[in-house]
Amino acid sequence: MIATRAPEETLAQVVAHLRRHELRAIGVACFGPVDLAVGRITSTPKPGWAGADLAGAIRASFGGLPVGFDTDVNGAALAEWRWGAAQGLDTFTYVTVGTGIGGGGMVGGQLMHGLLHPEMGHMRLPRHPADPLERGTCPFHADCWEGWAARDAIERRWGAGCQATDLDREQDLELLAHYIAAGIANIICTISPQRVVLGGGVILGGGDEDHRERMLASVRRQTAELLNGYLRLDELGSRIDDYVVAPALGSNAGVLGAIVLAQQAADRAP
Ligand code: ZN
Repeated sequence: MIATRAPEETLAQVVAHLRRHELRAIGVACFGPVDLAVGRITSTPKPGWAGADLAGAIRASFGGLPVGFDTDVNGAALAEWRWGAAQGLDTFTYVTVGTGIGGGGMVGGQLMHGLLHPEMGHMRLPRHPADPLERGTCPFHADCWEGWAARDAIERRWGAGCQATDLDREQDLELLAHYIAAGIANIICTISPQRVVLGGGVILGGGDEDHRERMLASVRRQTAELLNGYLRLDELGSRIDDYVVAPALGSNAGVLGAIVLAQQAADRAP
């Protein structure tokens, strides 16, 4: 594990680590937002990293070696597709709820790319009338998914240091799960995924299985309630436990995704 410090220092450590191995290709699954066309981080609150040319730095240090580059969320999605909860699917969504909310996945067998990487965490969602917060915590939007349901919102609502696993009152867990379900309902209406893989610390509770199951059960039920019978599918009814699922690869998904990105880069190389 290499701690993330200033880009020059961190990248030098990464390159030194990689140099100790015989490599055919390198895969990078990077936090974002990133410009995937050039492999550069665009904007980020991490000091010094805005504009960092990550893929360029790695390419310059390993001239000629194929480099695969994508977001950390798409990397994790790719690993779940290859080895985990999205095997055999060609259109699925991977969502992680933690310090922020990120989403990625595939449409028609291709990782989602477009103008930028999708920023699902910033879709606008109406405030729940029973929410003690008048405004979500995102500095850009009063009412976006991340601002209602990621870690900052939990702390703002229920106290500094509070985590999803601390929500003992059923109505508090239900409120949090409501927002997560509302985002998923919107994703179902726009992307029509064959499955939604839902991970991140807020859902998985750092390995607390009881929390994970309570959370998933509430999210599944409220997703179906919010769609309100509009989509009559077994996936949203009798088979919803197989439709909104936890990741199979846990916290290894990002690293495993980088390995798939490297393999794909090697396969594409002349
Ligand atoms: Zn936002």
